[in-house]
Amino acid sequence: MNSFSFYNPVRLHFGKGQISQLETELPQYGQNILVVYGGGSIKKNGLYDEVMAILKNLKMNVFELSGVEPNPRVETARKGIEICKKESIDIVLAVGGGSVIDCSKLIVAGAKIDEDAWDIVIHKTAIVDALPLGTILTISATGSEMNAGSVITNFETKEKYGWGNPLVMPKFSILDPTYTFTVPKNHTVYGMVDIMSHVFEQYFHDATNTPITDEMCEGVLRTVINTAPKLIEDLNNYKLRETILLAGTIGLNGFLSMGSRGDWATHNIEHSVSAVYDIPHGGGLAILFPNWMRYNVAVNPERFAGLATRVFNVNPNGKSTEEIANEGINRLSEFWKSIGAPSRLADYNIDDSELETLVEKSMINGPFGRFKVLQAEDVREILKMSL
Ligand code: NAP
Ligand code: FE
Repeated sequence: MNSFSFYNPVRLHFGKGQISQLETELPQYGQNILVVYGGGSIKKNGLYDEVMAILKNLKMNVFELSGVEPNPRVETARKGIEICKKESIDIVLAVGGGSVIDCSKLIVAGAKIDEDAWDIVIHKTAIVDALPLGTILTISATGSEMNAGSVITNFETKEKYGWGNPLVMPKFSILDPTYTFTVPKNHTVYGMVDIMSHVFEQYFHDATNTPITDEMCEGVLRTVINTAPKLIEDLNNYKLRETILLAGTIGLNGFLSMGSRGDWATHNIEHSVSAVYDIPHGGGLAILFPNWMRYNVAVNPERFAGLATRVFNVNPNGKSTEEIANEGINRLSEFWKSIGAPSRLADYNIDDSELETLVEKSMINGPFGRFKVLQAEDVREILKMSL
């Protein structure tokens, strides 16, 4: 293992009815609250009304920022920052998915500086403080509810970057599986692909001797694989939603990266694809990850073969390590297809016309990836395999 320091102060309130925790969480931060949400799913499923009733009882001064886009844009965060400054907001409450939470993280940081919010994303401005942030998660996918990361898009420049700082970790996050019942099948699938991809990014890492986190990763993967086919046929099933909701949080709250640093190359390439084509993050990952694996299987075939036998039930008898490894990757690809995820860029009508733009955007900060460092020619090849 690598040496590591671990810090995660997010208080999780998990389970049905945990929204009542707002009554004790919120008053400690002040009266002026900015509620941030997306395109309207919380109004359709009643969560908006439930939150507003609690805020009214608490006699809070409520301000709202709605319309946060999937793949949240820096312009939207700027609007939130303006409200925070003008109205002396004391706490921001994000009610939604990873996009709403990521946007809110930039808002709480941007509210404390004079410089433009994009400067935070591109690391031009260091943040020294942030407003407190609370979240109510409505879709299982990113782990943003319990981590320091945020991914923001600038469609003007066709750039999408992750940034992060412990200062923007939520003070608390409320995870009630019933709020995820209304997530449609396609986004439920994208979320599960994202969760599995986070685990893969961390499983293929830069360290040796990581038996604890290896077992934890494989356990999360097996659980999602066992749950996913049942959940897509039974979207209102509490137990299945609950399982996936916790998987999403464990998938990216730092536990799986103790003692190693993950690869993260596939996420980097996907961010370029969704910055140019605005596709769902999980959809992009479903296309790219099996090809990243095929391209890099020779780096450490034993690791891929272990994954194949322990997670994808590949029978190793009479097969070479390489054959076992490749069968595992094919099973992953088949599994994602079987639950309805896309498998080719062509599924989003993406051809090779912007291939060089995608390579260039991916390489903007130089070679990347820790399991295998990728150069421009490697990224080009993985993208070509994904067409
Ligand atoms: P999302 O973009 O937040 O939401 C996707 C869609 O699901 C939206 O259209 C949203 O509609 C809808 N939705 C959410 N909850 C719903 C519910 N309960 N019922 C019905 N519809 C619902 O999805 P996400 O996958 O959580 O976030 C994706 C973003 O996070 C991407 O930008 C990705 O790059 C980023 N990301 C961040 C991290 C991190 O650690 N911070 C990690 C991986 C990815 P409404 O807008 O109407 O609510
Ligand atoms: Fe992700």
